[in-house]
Amino acid sequence: MKVLVAVKRTIDPNVKVRVKSDQTGVETANVKMAMNPFCEIAVEEAVRMKEAGSANEVVAVSAGADKAQETLRTALAMGADRAVHIVTEAELQPLAVARLLKVIADEEQPGLVIMGKQAIDDDSNQTGQMLAALLGWPQATFASEIEFKDGTADVTREIDGGLETLNVNLPAVVTTDLRLNEPRYASLPNIMKAKKKPIDRREADALGVDISPRLAIHKVEEPPKREAGIKVADVAELVAKLRDDAKVIG
Ligand code: AMP
Repeated sequence: MKVLVAVKRTIDPNVKVRVKSDQTGVETANVKMAMNPFCEIAVEEAVRMKEAGSANEVVAVSAGADKAQETLRTALAMGADRAVHIVTEAELQPLAVARLLKVIADEEQPGLVIMGKQAIDDDSNQTGQMLAALLGWPQATFASEIEFKDGTADVTREIDGGLETLNVNLPAVVTTDLRLNEPRYASLPNIMKAKKKPIDRREADALGVDISPRLAIHKVEEPPKREAGIKVADVAELVAKLRDDAKVIG
């Protein structure tokens, strides 16, 4: 089975995000970037499928500007076999990414598309669901465990109040949640080997899909600052403050 894994380049999760002074978005110039953490989990899972013998090829795909190649190199260093870079300078929203990924899925005919449940920059949590709908394939989102049997996959999902297990026919789209695995660090020899693995460059404009934005961002702002707390001397004072000042108890 071939596994297609979609990876996005986002701001490094360890970097403190700053809103641009004109409130049109967040600052990305001179900011450290990395693979979206949920996409790392997707790559790790795909590589483990190959190691376990349930997959025989792992193809990483990313859409974005030239620098998306760095993210693809990371996927290759983690163990993906080859990569497809959909090149565009355009701002991509989930529907546009889903349409581009559909073209690649139609060409590659994978048995499984695995991707992050959300990108930590836009927190959309939409692309996997839209891709499944466009392909007409089953979807299992927020996966915390995946097991293959007889041409199907049992996917355990994290839902409110517990775990749910779905059985999906393949091909399917699966999106990853945090507990699925702990992604490996790429070793130096594998980083070196990854430099020789092929990255197929495809111009987004030549893929024949409409990638124009459908959503307009009106304003981006910092979350409100938390106000400083106060110290109380004893429980009686706490109860009085909760009752008289905060008015949260009767
Ligand atoms: P989102 O719907 O934006 O929260 O993103 C969910 C997932 O879709 C990500 O974790 C990626 O697997 C995939 N994805 C989003 N944007 C891109 C992109 N530009 N290139 C490749 N995959 C993407």
